[in-house]
Parts: sequence; C-alpha cells; structure tokens
Amino acid sequence: MIWRAIGFIGVQLLGGLCVWLALPDHTTIGALSGALVAGLAWFVVDTLRGARLLHWVRAGDASQPALTSGLWGEIAERVRRLVNIRERMTSDSQDRLNDFLGALQASPNGVVLLDHQGRIEWFNHTASQQFGLDARRDLQQYLGNLVRDPGFVAYLAGRDYSHELAMPGRDSTALRPVSLSIQLHPYGEGRLLLLSRDVTALQQAEAMRRDFVANVSHEIRTPLTVLSGFVETLQTLALTEPERERYLGTMALQAQRMQTLVKDLLTLSRLEGSPPPGLTDWVSMSSLMAELEREARELSAVLTAKAGRVLTLVFQSQYRCELSGSANELLSATSNLVSNAVRYTPPGGEVHVSVTLLPDGAVDFSVRDTGPGIAPEHIPRLTERFYRVDRSRSRDTGGTGLGLAIVKHVVQRHGAELTIASTPGQGSRFGIIFPPERVRQLG
Ligand code: ADP
Repeated sequence: MIWRAIGFIGVQLLGGLCVWLALPDHTTIGALSGALVAGLAWFVVDTLRGARLLHWVRAGDASQPALTSGLWGEIAERVRRLVNIRERMTSDSQDRLNDFLGALQASPNGVVLLDHQGRIEWFNHTASQQFGLDARRDLQQYLGNLVRDPGFVAYLAGRDYSHELAMPGRDSTALRPVSLSIQLHPYGEGRLLLLSRDVTALQQAEAMRRDFVANVSHEIRTPLTVLSGFVETLQTLALTEPERERYLGTMALQAQRMQTLVKDLLTLSRLEGSPPPGLTDWVSMSSLMAELEREARELSAVLTAKAGRVLTLVFQSQYRCELSGSANELLSATSNLVSNAVRYTPPGGEVHVSVTLLPDGAVDFSVRDTGPGIAPEHIPRLTERFYRVDRSRSRDTGGTGLGLAIVKHVVQRHGAELTIASTPGQGSRFGIIFPPERVRQLG
C-alpha cells in the first residue's frame, strides 16, 4: 500500500517537474497542472487495471492471473490462490461423495434416501430393481405413492421403525415368490434411510430346513414305532420260538433301516461341510468298477434270496483311466446309482454299467436298467432329499430317499454333470460325465 502511495505521489511530482522544466517561464501553475494531468493519467491507468481485474474475477478463470504487478496484481494472485484452494476442496469433497455413493451403489442391499417429507432423494441400483424405481422419473416423488404394498404404506406412515418389515418383492408370483425385508432408519433432520434385503433364499433355506427336520423325524418314527411295538409284544406275550424268530427278524430289519438312514444323513452332512476334493488324488476306474460289481452282485443275491428276483448284470469298461477326486465319494455316488438300478429293476431285467470316453476327453459313467422308468415330471425333483417316485418300493428295498441327493452333491463337488434319461415302462439311464481335467488315461 505504501508503494502505491509513493508511486502516486512520484507520478504527480514527475509530471509537475516535466511541465515546469518544459515551460519557459517555469511557473508554479504550470507545475501544478503537470502534476494534475499526471495524477489523472495514473488514475485512468489504475482504473483500467481494476476493471481488468473485475472482468477476470467475473469470468471465473483462476488458471491464469489477470495482472502480475502492483496492488491489483497482488489482489489477483491472492484471489487466484484462494479460488484454487476452494476448487481443490470442492473437488475433494465431490470425490469423497462419489466414493460414498459408489460404495452404496455397490451394496447388494437396496438403499433409498428420503427427505423429511418422504420424497426420494437418491437410491441405488438394487433398490431400483427391488421397487421398480426409475432415476429420471421418480426422484423427488413420494416413495409411499410408488410402493403401494399396504404393509409398506402402513409401516412408512406408522413412524415406528424399530422393527423390520417383510413384504413381497415387485416381481413376486405364486410360482416364484420374492420376499424383501425392509427397515427405515431416521437420520439428520427428519430424513429417512431405507435399507432393503432380498430374503427369498434365506426363507427358502429356512423352509427347507423345516421340511428336512420333519422328514427325518417321520423317517425315523416309522421304524421306531414298529420296533417299540415288537419290543412290547416280546415283553408281554408268551411267543412260540418261530414267532419270536420272525419278530426279531423284523426288528433287525427296522434297526438296519434306521442305521442306513443315519449313515446317509451323515454322508450328506459331511459332503456339505467339507471343502470339495482337489485334483491331486487319483482313483482307479477299474478298481471302482470291480467294487461296484461285487456290491451289485451281493445286493442282487440278497434280493434273489428274498423275493426270487433274478437280474442280468453287465459291467463294461471300454476305457482304462483314473479319476481325480475322493475315492469314498466317487464310490458312494456310483454305488447309489447301481444299487437303485438293481433295486428298482423287476425280475428278468438287465442292468448295464459302463464307462466310455467322449470326444472332448470327458468320461461318461452310466448305469442303464430295464426297470419301471420314471415319468418326466418326476425327473427334475429326483435329487431332492426324501423325494421318492414309488414310496413303497423304495422302502421295501431299503431305500432312504437320500441316494440321489448324495449323488448330486458328489457330482457337483467333482465338477461333473448328472444326466438322467428315462422312459416309463422301458427303463432308465443315469450318467455321470466327468470333465477332461479330472480324467487321466492309463496306457
Ligand atoms: P431311494 O433310496 O428311495 O432309492 P434315491 O434318492 O436313490 O432314493 O432315488 C429317489 C427316487 O427315484 C426313488 O425313490 C425312486 O422312486 C426313483 N428312482 C431312482 N433310481 C431309479 C431307477 N433306476 N429306476 C426307477 N426309479 C428310480
């Protein structure tokens, strides 16, 4: 500021001096006029510089300073730095806001922000899908007008947001129900944060768990009732030796049934609770086939002895190879398929078990039978736990209804594929296709 005053006075003195020297009579009036003109000139130049600065400030371009020297230059520079700092702060805040919104956008749960009147301020992609919201159409709309489920409307209006609300999703149908869990959280000044979760899978899992417990209880209760009935009979009645023998035989059968059920349940729970088998352990296909053949002939002999059922069993392996995976699991899955074929095929029927190499290097293990076959509507449900097409035949032959569920698990854990083809009255073919990376050819 001091330099500005010195400059102003200096210009006037210089102007006055120049005019005083230039005029022949060297009058004081002349010197004062010179000083006045110089002062005016200084004022004009200074005003022009001020106007330039004002223009620059109005234009808002802080990249280049409007002036570089003098008071106006310093003001310009300081304004420029201030604007730059503000711009950087604004850009940082914007980046942070974008990060927050990006994180909310990536959330698997629906997020909707409502203002104090319940109007939509922002929502993420998941919420847009769950409620059918459109960012161009629905911002600033009342959420209560767009989501018309009566339960939700009452929840929104009720102002008691301490509990979650369960409501059907937008695309929910009787065949494909979709369930949402909603909760509103007040924040800021009267604003609301709505969080929504798709709980369809959770509810289905819960329903499956309930069904499973009911099924297991039912499966165990039947043999238990039989067993306890016979125990009571043995305790209270004086039986002849042949009767005693017969009763004990039935009791042993029921106990065996419960044992098989528990064994299958434990197998299933092991399959669900352990990591999938790696690619390092190799199982010889010929040993697997030999074991399957031994078991199948044993089972067939038992059935022949019991019910006079004679079957033709054919085991063929055109391809010598090894499979990578768990020996126990592979035996469990393949022997379930073979034992089903043996158990369900009527007398005089045939069961063919074979291993073939497919063109892409995969291996197809298949079990074909000439049994009763399965109607197409049952096929998609066969691998469900306790699903049986023919209940009495399954029970009579010692089935638990868990065999194909075990097969499905083992197949999935080995990256393989289960194929089922069947014609009612003609027979069935169950196949497991092992991917090439799990197959090693033997020379
Ligand atoms: P189960 O212990 O009852 O045999 P599975 O899970 O192994 O249980 O099979 C489910 C149902 O699929 C069986 O109850 C049976 O009705 C049907 N099934 C399985 N394999 C065959 C087959 N080879 N032929 C006809 N029906 C079969």
